[in-house]
Amino acid sequence: MHTSKDNPFGILIYHRVAPHVEGVAAPTWNVTPDRLGRQLSGLMSRGYRPWPLRRAIECRRSGEAVPARTFVVTFDDGYDNVYHNAWPVLKELSIPATVFVATAYLDGRRPFAFDDWPAAGSDEVPDVAWKPLSTAHCSEMIESGLIEVGSHTHTHADLRGRPGIFRRDLVRSMEVLHDRLGLSDVSFAFPFGYFGSEMVAVTREVGAKCALTAEPKVVAPRDDPFAWGRFNVGRHDTAATLTLKLNGWYSMLRGVWRRLRPSSERRKAAAFQ
Ligand SMILES: [Zn+2]
Repeated sequence: MHTSKDNPFGILIYHRVAPHVEGVAAPTWNVTPDRLGRQLSGLMSRGYRPWPLRRAIECRRSGEAVPARTFVVTFDDGYDNVYHNAWPVLKELSIPATVFVATAYLDGRRPFAFDDWPAAGSDEVPDVAWKPLSTAHCSEMIESGLIEVGSHTHTHADLRGRPGIFRRDLVRSMEVLHDRLGLSDVSFAFPFGYFGSEMVAVTREVGAKCALTAEPKVVAPRDDPFAWGRFNVGRHDTAATLTLKLNGWYSMLRGVWRRLRPSSERRKAAAFQ
């Protein structure tokens, strides 16, 4: 059937999935496992259906329609708590997801250099709250068929304006994914969501399957998979607020808000994205 109307869909970004530890500042970029379960099961009960990223790309490439209320789940950076805390929730709800891994940290025993949570690496919290994924845990999730692993570059450095270094870093990560996990034809997400036309061109040249940003907008029918936007999910998000994001309301309101704000505030807010 090619007659049904194509629909926009939304892609969600999670990072860390860890419980809070009493007496310690709440983890940054975090959604607790309980909250993750309530967000995703709430979306399902509202009629939203999760698709693997691969399927969304294939569907758009073949010109077939994406059904209304489709969404895609992604995790950036590659925290081991995705394996320990998110994967059980995803299995229980049969929700596919893509994990974008900064491959230099794979099997590492230190926190990500870009982890801005002061407790990361300290004895105050269990190491699963900040530790990077291992190759073994990635393999196990991939073998389940529910989880895809993609590239988030090798070093997760801010390489805006340095396309040559960006290219080497991205190629290195694709080599690691190939050598350790047997992956080829991998999807890609920009670290920090930073991108530009030069960087997008590099992702195409090196043969990534797509390049996802962190621009909070829905994927419209003719949008290029080399600049698909995604919505960050916060610890206060509920299924209800996520439906606003997935429906495009959030992008619209954000556009209005941006136009109304003085430019100094706009710059301040941009620094936190
Ligand atoms: Zn990242």
